[in-house]
Parts: sequence; structure tokens; C-alpha cells
Amino acid sequence: MTDICIIGGGAAGMTAAICAKEADPALDVLILEKKNRLGRKILATGNGKCNLSNRACPGCGETLDFFERLGLVTRTDPAGRVYPYTEEAGAVQGALTARLQQLSVRADTCAEVISVEKKDRGFRIHLANGEIEAEKLLIACGGKAGPSFGSTGDGFRFARSLGHRVKKLIPVLTAADVKENVEKLAGIRAKGAAALYFQDKEIFRETGEIQFTKTGISGICVFDLSRYLLIPEGKSLENGFDDYRIGLDFFPDMDEEELEQLLIRRQLAGLDGEKLLRYLVRGPVGAMILESSKGDVKTTAKLLKDFPLSPAAVRGWDFAQVTKGGVPLDEVDAETCQSRLIEGLYFAGEVLDYDGPCGGYNLQHAWETGMRAGREMAK
Ligand SMILES: Cc1cc2nc3c(=O)[nH]c(=O)nc-3n(C[C@H](O)[C@H](O)[C@H](O)COP(=O)(O)OP(=O)(O)OC[C@H]3O[C@@H](n4cnc5c(N)ncnc54)[C@H](O)[C@@H]3O)c2cc1C
Repeated sequence: MTDICIIGGGAAGMTAAICAKEADPALDVLILEKKNRLGRKILATGNGKCNLSNRACPGCGETLDFFERLGLVTRTDPAGRVYPYTEEAGAVQGALTARLQQLSVRADTCAEVISVEKKDRGFRIHLANGEIEAEKLLIACGGKAGPSFGSTGDGFRFARSLGHRVKKLIPVLTAADVKENVEKLAGIRAKGAAALYFQDKEIFRETGEIQFTKTGISGICVFDLSRYLLIPEGKSLENGFDDYRIGLDFFPDMDEEELEQLLIRRQLAGLDGEKLLRYLVRGPVGAMILESSKGDVKTTAKLLKDFPLSPAAVRGWDFAQVTKGGVPLDEVDAETCQSRLIEGLYFAGEVLDYDGPCGGYNLQHAWETGMRAGREMAK
């Protein structure tokens, strides 16, 4: 019988183990991680730089204090995104694993939990090659996004088996495929804004770099847009995106009228036909717009401000960074991360029904809930 068993040695699980052991060094804390090393996903975050938090998050200060204790120095970019000072995700993973070792937290890797059950006292955790009993259990298995890093949705199965509900799981922070043929634009990056309309009403807009793929669009602003591109209840993948439209604005700093005047001035200066958009947008983007506008200046200005694309799908779990949905927040005490249904059961990280935008919000949530659960379990 171990005091605390943590399923999942990711961001939330490692943080929880550290905080529990720091609170009470006498506790026996065991992490069960199915991959061959802890924190595998952390290494892939932020394009290998690990955007670990955001200054806009209320809990950011606590996270920075936590990492400072671990010896990790951070830097913040002008947008408030926090990174390790050396911009190496390995520094974050390394600081966490070093502290776990220093605290003598037991961590079993290549230890995949198959199922869990509630006993009269504590929990029984079944592994492929044995079982473990624990007084307190933390489910920190992550979601379903990025399954190659170990998060394949097991935590949801465990939560259900213990009587919890799981809200619909959707891959978010991912690229969008569109119905239009954009193959010729593949590889092009354009500064601009991506807007999303539902039944012609704007529901999302963000400025950033739009990256064209063979089948659609990607980039941070598109990732953030994907959190709102949800198949409505009762619809399927076939018709689920029919009420949505994406609008690309290649000139967020100018309004349509100003753009039209600019194009008229260019025409008067002899820049007409295919030259009209030269050096204003990248060649293939200009060609696509002029093909639709037939060179009409008013229509060209309109399309530069709002180029319509029809979403066909979002890229799935292998491409998504985060899971929308999960264990409902009203079934878990927000202060302690303890289940409201079962005493001694805790949840932290992406297994919970939380998803944030790009920019460090999701890791922040994992550290924050991990800290709370860890300290609470130690009580
Ligand atoms: C490519 C990529 C880039 C990202 N970049 C950022 C970023 O820069 N900033 C940001 O804020 N967020 C980013 N995210 C999201 C962020 O990484 C996650 O939200 C966060 O890691 C969730 O932490 P977690 O501990 O809940 O889950 P995870 O980090 O997914 O950890 C869960 C762990 O549980 C283990 N596990 C699962 N099932 C079992 C089982 N049955 N038995 C034993 N172990 C099990 C897994 O192997 C895994 O190690 C990114 C995600 C991806 C995929």
C-alpha cells in the first residue's frame, strides 16, 4: 500500500509528486508512467522551446516561483509567453526530473496502468504485470492529443470506471482543412488575421501568421480558431461545418475603403492586371484573389480583407495539441482537485475539462492543478 499513486508522469503528474513530497517528505509517492521516460510531451512543447506559462494567467506567479525553486530561470516575450531562459524544453523536463530524484519520489517508467478500482480503503491499480494499492490516487494521464507522447485517453476511461462523466472529447489547437483547393498555396506564410463566422456572425478573430497547407490553413491564429470550430450537436463530420465560414484578412491594419483607394492609386500608376497585388501579398495569394475578383478593384479590396474559406474538417488527435472536453469541472473541487464523488481520488491536467489558447495556458493549467492536487494529497 503506497500513500499516493500518480498515474501519468507528464507535466501535471510530476508537479503533483514534487508538491506532495515537498509538503510531507515522509510520504511514499509513486508515479506510474507508461512511456520509457517522464515528461516526454514537455520536450515537444512550444516547438522544442516549451512555452510553459503566460503572464496573463492568474496563477503564472506561483508557477514561476515553483520553477525558480527547481533552479529554472525563465524569460518572457513581449506577448507575455514564458519560456525557459535557454529556450530548451529539455531544461523544464530536466528540472522536474532532477527534483523528483532529489526528493526520492519513486517513478516507474514503462508502467502502463490498465484499470483502476475503488476499494473500501484506497484504490487498486492494475498494471500489465501486477497491481498496486494506494491510499490516494491522482489521475494525470493527459488527454488524447499527441498520442505518440503517451496520452491516449486512458484517464477518461479510468474516470468513467470510477463513476465520473466525461464531456465530449474534441481535438483542438490544430490545423483546419478547407473545401476550396488551396494546394497551390501550400507552404506560404502570410501575416494577417483569421476570423471565424457561425451563421454569418463573427465568433472569433485573431491576428498572426497564417500558414497554408496542401489542404487548408495552419498557424497559431488558426490553432486558436480551431477551439471554436465545433460540430454542432446532432450534426456529423459530413455537414458539421456547413454553418461556419473562415475569413482571411490579409490587411488587418487597413480598412476596405483605404485598401480600395490604395488599389486605385496603383492602377493609376500603371500597376494593373496581375501587377495590382504585386508586393502587397505573396504571388500565389495574389493570383488566387485576382482569379476570384476578375481584377475588379472593389471586389479585390473586399477579398483582401475577407477571403472566404469553407472549413471541411479539423486535423485529428495526431496533430492536435490539446483536448477539449474531459472530466467535468463541477465534479471536481477546484481548490483541491479532489473528486466530488470519491474521497481520495484526484484529477489534474488535461484529463480535466479545460482547454486554453496557444501561449502557455495549457501547461499553466497542468502545473497549477498538479500543485493543488499534490499539496492536498499530502494533507
Ligand atoms: C506538440 C505539442 C506542443 C504543445 N506545446 C505547448 C506549449 O508550448 N505550451 C502549452 O501551454 N501547452 C502546449 N501543449 C499542450 C500541453 O503539452 C498539454 O496540455 C500538457 O502537457 C498536459 O499535461 P498533462 O500532464 O495533463 O498531460 P501529458 O503531458 O500528456 O502527460 C500525461 C502522461 O500520462 C501518461 N499516461 C497516459 N496514460 C497512461 C497509463 N494508462 N498508464 C501510465 N501512464 C499513462 C502519458 O504517457 C503521459 O506521460 C502542447 C501539446 C503538444 C502535443
